[in-house]
Amino acid sequence: MRWECASIHVLLRISFPPVSSPANFDFHCHSTVSDGLLPPAEVVARAAGLGVSHLALTDHDDIDGLPEARQAAEERGLVFVNGVEISIEWEGNPIHVVGLGFDARHPGFVEGLVSVRSGRVERARRMGDAFAAIGIPGVFEGAMRHAGNPLLISRAHFARHLVETGLFKEPRNVFDHYLVPGKPGYVEHRWASLGAALGWIHAAGGVAVVAHPARYKLSSGQMRRFLGDFKDLGGQAIEVVCGSHSPDHILHYARLARQFAFHASRGSDFHGPVESYVDLGCLPALPEDLKPVWRLLDI
Ligand code: AMP
Ligand code: MN
Ligand code: MN
Ligand code: MN
Repeated sequence: MRWECASIHVLLRISFPPVSSPANFDFHCHSTVSDGLLPPAEVVARAAGLGVSHLALTDHDDIDGLPEARQAAEERGLVFVNGVEISIEWEGNPIHVVGLGFDARHPGFVEGLVSVRSGRVERARRMGDAFAAIGIPGVFEGAMRHAGNPLLISRAHFARHLVETGLFKEPRNVFDHYLVPGKPGYVEHRWASLGAALGWIHAAGGVAVVAHPARYKLSSGQMRRFLGDFKDLGGQAIEVVCGSHSPDHILHYARLARQFAFHASRGSDFHGPVESYVDLGCLPALPEDLKPVWRLLDI
């Protein structure tokens, strides 16, 4: 089955050059193993239908979807790369780091991910309590019904539940009103440290990539310090082209990639057919002078 990158031009006002090369890399997307809406094999089928040639599935803090996705990719002739998106905190700010091309059986890496996942259910209970305290009961149970993988309960599942109850039309409205710092459904949580996450990725032979850098509430000075710390710890790449980046963001993070001598990655951050910024592989090309992250991988 084939899909088209519908409505992307309108949404982002980006013109896509005619595809002269069949290579289409998407190194950031989610399945029901975390907070995506499609099972791993369906993510791969959709990617194939959209012309993606190289895919990494990057579920939050969990790699259980990789075998199913890899098999589906092999059946469809896609090049598949192991991926994960690790939740970390840096100076109190939640940040996401994508790991690519690691050995998924490396014990230290696997245990590290277990430790990041471990607090999610307890955090979700505290979120449910916070909603109950403002007169909205049953939110933990409601969110859990949306979680394909209970250990990976995420704010996205809370948003889906609250949309389902009719409180808001769109998940992003739930985030704005309830689920971000300073709002009543947000609770503090300890994620992995930057050093720990990069240590796990590197021990397992992978490459670390800063995910969707434009989405963090960091000043430009903080972003530069963060990128410096990331580089000092052996981080090698940054997402320059991603679903949530405007054309100006792409120019800005391409400049930072050059300044810090990072490789550049490209990924949709697809979560599902209706909820995502863009569909799988429906992204502009990386700026030509940047070193693509796939050159660091054995593919
Ligand atoms: P968590 O890992 O539980 O903190 O949840 C973070 C997830 O919530 C992200 O990976 C996105 O899928 C989703 N998310 C975060 N911010 C927003 C937003 N403003 N609108 C919609 N979804 C969001
Ligand atoms: Mn997510
Ligand atoms: Mn993310
Ligand atoms: Mn993501």
